Parts: sequence; structure tokens; C-alpha cells
Amino acid sequence: MKKILFDLLALQDVDMKIRGLKTRLAMIPKERENFEKELAAALSSIKAKQEQIKNVELNIRKTESEIAKYDESVKKLQTNSALVKKNNEYQAMLSEIEHNKEKISNLETDLLKMMDRVEAMRKSLKEEERQSVAKIKTIKEELNELVVLEREIKEQGRALLAKSKEFATHVVPDLLDQYNRLLKDSGIPAVKLNGEICGNCNFKVTPQTRNNCRSGNIVFCDNCSHMLYCEKPEQD
Ligand SMILES: [Zn+2]
Repeated sequence: MKKILFDLLALQDVDMKIRGLKTRLAMIPKERENFEKELAAALSSIKAKQEQIKNVELNIRKTESEIAKYDESVKKLQTNSALVKKNNEYQAMLSEIEHNKEKISNLETDLLKMMDRVEAMRKSLKEEERQSVAKIKTIKEELNELVVLEREIKEQGRALLAKSKEFATHVVPDLLDQYNRLLKDSGIPAVKLNGEICGNCNFKVTPQTRNNCRSGNIVFCDNCSHMLYCEKPEQD
């Protein structure tokens, strides 16, 4: 391999590594955002369950105090009814007592249902918390790994950039200009000519281009203008 090609490919190898690192680095913010969303979702689901439990607990206390109020009222009516002389007043009190007892019975049924419900909710919350602890731990580890990865990529990138600058000084200026222009593309600036097919655009080159390449020269694709080289030029 001619030195001119060797130096160019050495530079390109470093630059392609830099490009790979940049691509990886660009993925990190989105990955971080996704992990943070997962974390927030895990926490908010627990918080929502805690709120629901609090609401039911509040209703339980309200119902209990209502029952106590009706109990009190029944006791008062019972005491007062003993002092009432008139039969119709006595009957009215008895019916009010019955009415209150019925209310108490209904409230007690509600209370039992709510207690069952809150019990099931507490159980479900406990299970979710157990699962979330593991999940949150994993997400936090993933987030930490991203921090480490980002730092490593940036360190590697800095080292490679220094190397690229140094290697660029070995490349002939004219060739370097052309190479730098192609580097801005998404493709690889200098590619192998496979038989008569360009390694970048996969189009067939002219026989003249192919022959020129086979003589050991760096040539340009007739179609995409990328640099072409032959790994084993015929003259070597
Ligand atoms: Zn091409």
C-alpha cells in the first residue's frame, strides 16, 4: 500500500471512530429522558395508590363518627322515651329509634365494605412498593451507567480528536481538503473499489476509473465522488 493511501486510511479510521462516538453520545439524552420517565411513573403510581388509601381511610373515619352520632341519638331517645307519658309521642320515638338503628346498620355495612377495600389496597400497595424498590434501583443504576458512559465517550473522543489532528498532518493538503469535504457526508470518504463497484454508492465505475485505481492511485467515484482505492494494486 502506498504511503499516501496508508496515511489517509489511518486518518479515516480515527475519524470513523469519532463519528461512531458522536452517534452514541447523541443517543444518551433520549435514553436518560426515558429512564427518568420510568422513574417518575414508578413513583407516581405509588403516590396515587397512597392517595386512594388516604381517601378511603378518611371515609371510614367519617362513617365511624356518623355511626357514633346515631348511637348517641338512639341512647338519648331511649332515655327520653321512658319519661314520655303520651302513647302517640312514645310511638313516634320508638319509630325514630328504629329509623336510626336502620341507618346505623346500613352505615356498618358500608364500613365493612370500605375496610375490606382498604385492606386489599394496602396489600396491593405493599406489593407494588416491593416491586418498585427493585425497579427504581435498576433505573437508578442505568442512569448512573449513562453518566459513566458519557464521560468515557467524551474522554475517548478527546484522545481520538488529538490523534485525528496529528494524522491529518501526514496527509497531502489537497487530498486532505477533498477528504474533509467528503467527511461531512454520512458515508465513508475513502472506500474500497470492489471489482468495479464503488464501496460507497454501489454503482459501477467506468473502466478508466477502475484501471486508474488498480494502478494504485486514489481515484474518485464517477457517481458519488467518494475516494476509491484498491487494496492490492496490480503494480505492488
Ligand atoms: Zn460511489
